[in-house]
Amino acid sequence: MESWSKSLEHSVGPEGPIRVEIRCTDTSDGNFAIDSDAGQLNDNRKRIVDRRWIWLRQVHGNRVVVVSDSADANDLDAILGTEADALVTRRADVALAVQSADCATLALWSDDGVIGAVHAGWRGLEADVIGATVKAMRSLGAETIHARTGPCIGVECYEFGATELERMVAIFGAEVVGRSAEGNDALDVRRAVYLSLERSGVHLVGGSLRCSACRPEELWSHRSRNDKQRQALVVWIGHNQ
Ligand SMILES: [Zn+2]
Repeated sequence: MESWSKSLEHSVGPEGPIRVEIRCTDTSDGNFAIDSDAGQLNDNRKRIVDRRWIWLRQVHGNRVVVVSDSADANDLDAILGTEADALVTRRADVALAVQSADCATLALWSDDGVIGAVHAGWRGLEADVIGATVKAMRSLGAETIHARTGPCIGVECYEFGATELERMVAIFGAEVVGRSAEGNDALDVRRAVYLSLERSGVHLVGGSLRCSACRPEELWSHRSRNDKQRQALVVWIGHNQ
């Protein structure tokens, strides 16, 4: 698991200064596919962070779900499994999660305590799921927004069809085209994420550079191994000790 956290100096909650906490799971943390065994999934989630997880049924679109301050337990339950690809909130009592096995995942946060989690494959990037998430965060009052990326498939492992590649070039320019290890045209998903963040005015604060396809011991990959399991990126607001 990759762990990262940062104190938000501009934001003080009722119990003192708050932190943003981000985790990117590995195969050793278990499977986070939402249709896997519910008991096992619950155990896996609890081991990462023991609080209410909010998760979606991801559909490679640009729909963002806002987890509002006023949502009660029933409202929160009703969000689970919603068809969407991003979550945002100001709440400090939930953990926002997205799952992937090659697609990019991102955690976003603002200095004033708004957080977001995004699942961004090439279709989501094309549909500007990152821009939509940033807009939703701004509607909750976020000003300066930062991001960290989870692991995703690397360009060397992501050979891509000419038609789809043209669609991505039309949006992001030729720099998203790279070469696979075999020397064929490939999509640089990570580069597309960086460009999308830049266009949305988000500051990138680093992230994972691991390739899901190249690291069978650590990460699941749909493209290279047809894995059904998923890793998770989780973000939540915690308190300074
Ligand atoms: Zn690779």
